[in-house]
Amino acid sequence: MLEIFYPDTRCASSYQIPYEEYYRQGIRGVIFDIDNTLVMHGAPATPEAAALFEKLRGIGLNTCLISNNSAERVAPFAEAVGSPFMSKAGKPSRRGYMEAMRLMGTNAESTLFVGDQLFTDIWGANRCGIRTVLVNPIHPREEIQIVLKRFLEKPVLAAYERKKRRTERS
Ligand SMILES: [Mg+2]
Repeated sequence: MLEIFYPDTRCASSYQIPYEEYYRQGIRGVIFDIDNTLVMHGAPATPEAAALFEKLRGIGLNTCLISNNSAERVAPFAEAVGSPFMSKAGKPSRRGYMEAMRLMGTNAESTLFVGDQLFTDIWGANRCGIRTVLVNPIHPREEIQIVLKRFLEKPVLAAYERKKRRTERS
């Protein structure tokens, strides 16, 4: 039951994911959440973020940003890193993910999703059958509704880690 919120993998940071390895495994497009996944909530694109997208293009990976935030927040960020985007994506709705795959010319098998929240980011990607990487949120001080979701995420993450350990043992 909780499995619908489980990521395929966890990584400390979006900047430490082995993207070349995913490319070798057939991934051709990466969908990113923005806030707390690539930069602090509401922050503009950093040189590090721009460099990451440059690197992904070099590998041969398409990208798309999908955010529940407004176009005013998302468009300048997308412009700075040179990626297509969808604002007001309504995650966990499938709509944004499907549109992102259409824009990238990929399908569920050749797409990777990277995000920091279980109940929006990961759930939505799982609903589309897309492989997921859950990253640690960048900023420790978050808005109150996010703090509440983190509190609710905790038991789900604990169950996920227990299942992972069982799977690794067997
Ligand atoms: Mg986020």
